[in-house]
Amino acid sequence: MKIVRIPVVSLLLLLLISSFSHAADPATQKWWRGNIHGHSFHSDGNHFPEMVAKNYKDLGYQFISITDHNCLQDKPRHRPVNKVPASAVTTCKEAFGDIPTTEDGKNYILRTLPEIKKLVEEPGKFLLVSGQEINKKQYDKQIHANFLGGIAPLEPPKGDSAYNAFEKIIEVTQKQMEGSEKPSFLMLNHPYWPKYDIPAEWIASLLGFKHFEMLNISRGCKSTGDATHPSLERCWDAINVIRMVKHKAPPIFATATDDCHRYLPEDDKNRLPGRGWICVKSDTLSQDALLTAMDRGDYYTSNGVELTCVAYSPKEKTLRVVAKPMEGAKMWIEFVGTLKKDIKEDEPLLKWNLGDRPATKFSEKIGQVLKKVDGNEATYKLTGDELYVRAVVRSDQPTRLKVPDTPPNKTAWTQPFGWRK
Ligand SMILES: [Zn+2]
Ligand SMILES: [Zn+2]
Repeated sequence: MKIVRIPVVSLLLLLLISSFSHAADPATQKWWRGNIHGHSFHSDGNHFPEMVAKNYKDLGYQFISITDHNCLQDKPRHRPVNKVPASAVTTCKEAFGDIPTTEDGKNYILRTLPEIKKLVEEPGKFLLVSGQEINKKQYDKQIHANFLGGIAPLEPPKGDSAYNAFEKIIEVTQKQMEGSEKPSFLMLNHPYWPKYDIPAEWIASLLGFKHFEMLNISRGCKSTGDATHPSLERCWDAINVIRMVKHKAPPIFATATDDCHRYLPEDDKNRLPGRGWICVKSDTLSQDALLTAMDRGDYYTSNGVELTCVAYSPKEKTLRVVAKPMEGAKMWIEFVGTLKKDIKEDEPLLKWNLGDRPATKFSEKIGQVLKKVDGNEATYKLTGDELYVRAVVRSDQPTRLKVPDTPPNKTAWTQPFGWRK
């Protein structure tokens, strides 16, 4: 009897210990780093698409989506030879050999997505996710959205108003995926480009957008706002309060991207790849696995800080975050959230009407720092009064590349937690 019981107890104990260590051990979380917004010769980027992919692969990314304007890399488009910079030709030939040209030698034939995949993809190491930027200026506003996982290119739909143009984008993208088992990803892009075009209240009401580009780290996207426009990080909290309280909907997830157009050795180095990215938590590196994880919000956003663990326990009501230490840097973690008791029905935010320009200031109680911890790891225990909590790992170390009007120091942002019923 004894002989039998001991191993069973030990086994249970072992299982218990291993399940604890599984939850606490950051090594068990697999993260894939990717850029989900960038352009190539198929639209207005300044390099061949295979070289766009190579640039990111060389930087240590595991996936990218080349989101050219209103097209997928679905056709062998032509690029006049005399309009291609010499350095683009040299670097592409060095990496991939001859570039196909038309018979008369006047045009380069651009490679399509399946051809580019053959050149750069490596199982478990590097992946291309199909994607496009659907964009058009309508009613004096720039209406731009990134659609990943789509099966065919989409023309930007015409709206009855600028707001309606976004609603139409939601409609056409959902329609395309109807009946398909495949996951997809729709993001509202750079709301502040070029002239604070898209107000936070629009994003809050456009519930078909589960993601928005909080940090488009390219020029002119003004993510840190100005004296009369709150930063897009502040807007994020306001959007979440409106979504959750007024629309009884989940919060929105926030991304960072490069929106890269420049890849050549002679370009301003601060416009090259590697400014803002997301890291997706998934066991495998495949388009379906990544897009499914992103749909759940299983990713964090960064311009330089690497997280090894983001763990929310619904049972314990704790959010635990661990970042990789950075040599010589001071790091600290802020848990940012909004408390239910601070949001009354007369909160001006909840009374915003579409079409109005938004209030430019939100109550300090929206998106306040609920707890601050020095160092690279911390846990927050929810009291039950939080609408949501998100963690921001900040540092005093400047980002590798410098872009005006974006956060200057290396930082990572988790998505909001504690809101799922
Ligand atoms: Zn755009
Ligand atoms: Zn773009």
